[in-house]
Amino acid sequence: MSSRKKIAATGGGIAAAIIIAVVALSGANVFVHNNPTQIQNITSSSAAQSNTVSTSQVSTSKLQIVAAENFWGSLISQLGGTHVQVLSIVTDPNADPHEYESNTADAQALTNANYVIVNGAGYDDWAIKIIGASNNPNQKVLNVAKLLGKKEGDNPHFWYSPVYVNQTVAQMYSDLVSIDPNNAAYYKQQYVNLNASLGQYNARIDEIKQQFAGTRVAATESIFVYLANATGLDLISPPEFIDAVAEGNDPPAQSVVQFQQQLQGQGGNVTVLVYNEQTVTPLTQNIKALAAQKGIPIVGVTETIQPSDVSFQDWMNSELISLQNALNAKALGQ
Ligand SMILES: [Zn+2]
Repeated sequence: MSSRKKIAATGGGIAAAIIIAVVALSGANVFVHNNPTQIQNITSSSAAQSNTVSTSQVSTSKLQIVAAENFWGSLISQLGGTHVQVLSIVTDPNADPHEYESNTADAQALTNANYVIVNGAGYDDWAIKIIGASNNPNQKVLNVAKLLGKKEGDNPHFWYSPVYVNQTVAQMYSDLVSIDPNNAAYYKQQYVNLNASLGQYNARIDEIKQQFAGTRVAATESIFVYLANATGLDLISPPEFIDAVAEGNDPPAQSVVQFQQQLQGQGGNVTVLVYNEQTVTPLTQNIKALAAQKGIPIVGVTETIQPSDVSFQDWMNSELISLQNALNAKALGQ
């Protein structure tokens, strides 16, 4: 469990520490900007100072929405547009979301929100506990795992499936309309716009499928399973290995040996290694080094949006371009 944190803390020396500090600072700014309590304070203090109250930023009539993670937060923010104020809790690209520990500010925001989106399936039990304890009768909750008919123990990386993303966005849209029916026409237009914007990412997935379906690939964590299915890529890494990394457990020794043999060309060549940069352990680093040594292209992916200020679809699109480039490089014999 703690092995990942140790690596994150000691892995990159001073440069990494500076980057983390900068990210932490910008994260704090984002949080202040989005925190409903803070915003009310800012609004009332500016009203006291001046007769002109700015309406451009925040109005108290905005729906207060909290997403446990920023991939869902980006999507609901694009749907809700100017009628919502969205706070995403898990946003740090340098931390492992599987290991997130909530704080009192998270609890306060979750308790007071009109609408809460959690991933479920064990990915954010901390958030489910908080909303269960507060049991706010005026709050609507979207549990994505429940929506998709999934349960704890199932692969929780639903946002890496374009089908599940579509289903979730459709539910978010209908929830917004039911919470705030006066703005139904506005949300409908936002929904149309978001679907159009997601088109590019869906098209790239189809393109990879047409070009590379059946190609053997490997991954260090189960985050890539749904996208491998969507792109038709043949993910051959041992499931025991990738599931254990996701859960913060040690993979069975046999699965480690099998993975290493796959990278060494036994049982079929691996074309690309997909490397989860947010669930790093000594074993995944070892796998990455072995792939590099064997000339296997490595594609980095992340659990949360990276960089954290871009949209869900821009982030996904850039990961898909990296994947496509790596597959192309290998196909062209590098
Ligand atoms: Zn994961």
